[in-house]
Amino acid sequence: MSKPKIVILGAGYGGIMTSKSLEKLLKSGEADVTLINKHDYHYLTTQLHKTGVGTAADRQIAMSIPELINPNKTRFLKAAVSSVDINTQEVHLEGGDTVKYDYLVIALGFEIETFGIPGVKENAFAIRSFRSSKTIYHQIIKQFNLYKEDHDPSRLTIVVAGGGFTGIEMMGELADGLPKLCKEHDIPYEKIRIVAIEAAPSVIPFFPKQSIQYTTEVLEKRNIELITSTKILECTAEKVILENNLEIPTKTLIWSCGVKGNTIVHKWGLPIEKGKIPVDSELRVKNMKNIFSLGDCSLFMKDEKNALPPTAQVALQQASVCAKNIVASIRGELLNTFEYHHKGSVASIGLMAAVGKVGNFRLSGLFGAFMKQVIEARYLFNLGGPSLIIKQHFGVSREPVKVTAKQ
Ligand code: FAD
Ligand code: NAD
Repeated sequence: MSKPKIVILGAGYGGIMTSKSLEKLLKSGEADVTLINKHDYHYLTTQLHKTGVGTAADRQIAMSIPELINPNKTRFLKAAVSSVDINTQEVHLEGGDTVKYDYLVIALGFEIETFGIPGVKENAFAIRSFRSSKTIYHQIIKQFNLYKEDHDPSRLTIVVAGGGFTGIEMMGELADGLPKLCKEHDIPYEKIRIVAIEAAPSVIPFFPKQSIQYTTEVLEKRNIELITSTKILECTAEKVILENNLEIPTKTLIWSCGVKGNTIVHKWGLPIEKGKIPVDSELRVKNMKNIFSLGDCSLFMKDEKNALPPTAQVALQQASVCAKNIVASIRGELLNTFEYHHKGSVASIGLMAAVGKVGNFRLSGLFGAFMKQVIEARYLFNLGGPSLIIKQHFGVSREPVKVTAKQ
């Protein structure tokens, strides 16, 4: 009898940890596992703001997938998925190849939510992937160079749209990284403007009052101009247009106004709710026995009204249950019910400050920043053991990740 074929789409947090868990759970020869990702590197989405400002080396953020998996247990395929045929149980890849599956895991992550605001898709820069974040870095440098020719101040104005966690992490990183970048490129830092725009009355509006106050103070101390209670209505390559007839001339709008599930899955004949793939309590796509989905592209309802948020924490917890349930399905055993345990949230505001909440305990300042580093190191440990932490932190030489950024 042929071995069951397990195919995992996406090697982000959810996908790669599902494959790592399967490596541990499956007996030798029990199944064939294929992991498909459009790049041959896995990137730390939670650190992409650093790539955007150049405050972390590429090797600290993007890691070669073949080095993270066990090639004797998982076959890695670098390919972009174009569609899935749920009737023939085939994955179609760009370029025309197909891959057969008996069990499928869809972990294709998120896309940027633009809310259809004119000009955003065409002109704004997104913190979406390693590549798109690298593009932000190149845009900043490009504008520095052009400023030296025409002294147009809009080239040194960087606007961050959205004051959620992604937005404040980006603002903090810009305040940390730009002084050094300016020095390297001979740009007077005092001419730099970092403007943050948030539609709600404050940044991180979903957080406790004291945390909002702390974050606002840190950002203002770092000379970030906060414009709150103001929506972005449009953007062009030259300016951002806001409510109340406000306009900010800028060549660099960084968009962090929220995310949605990867829309590529919408045409595959799968159920779609709220733009995502709804899954049952065992992480199987609703009414499907052999297709699982997790992370940002899936919809898991924690109660009748509320879905789990799109976070790495959710994707990682789901990965281990997803792997267990695939193995249970193969062995004809009972499946596990997924239960989410929220361990808290911490967002950095540059290297030396952070804001967060663990249980009823509010975190801020240096301690918060330290906790953020611990959380990141813990992920690396789970992914590749202590050797990966050492490699990441001390830059032990290994195969460089080759990435070309769109410029
Ligand atoms: P992803 O990590 O997005 O992985 C999807 C994978 O699929 C990617 O490798 C992608 O290349 C691949 N892919 C996509 N389309 C295709 C295709 N067609 N073919 C092949 N491969 C494809 N969450 C937290 O819990 N804590 C944090 O501190 C935190 N910080 C964040 C900071 C930033 C700046 C951002 C943007 C997000 C942050 N998040 C954080 C959210 C978190 O990053 C996401 O929830 C998480 O990445 C979701 O994991 P995932 O596996 O579902 O998707
Ligand atoms: P978000 O939805 O949490 O925040 C987006 C912000 O943009 C909101 O405050 C919203 O009011 C604002 N906004 C929306 N439209 C706007 C407009 N037209 N003009 C001005 N402001 C507008 O999105 P995010 O910050 O990208 O986070 C996405 C997910 O990733 C969340 O689940 C978040 O928790 C997670 N994340 C977590 C961390 C962390 O834990 N450290 C860091 C980053 C992201």
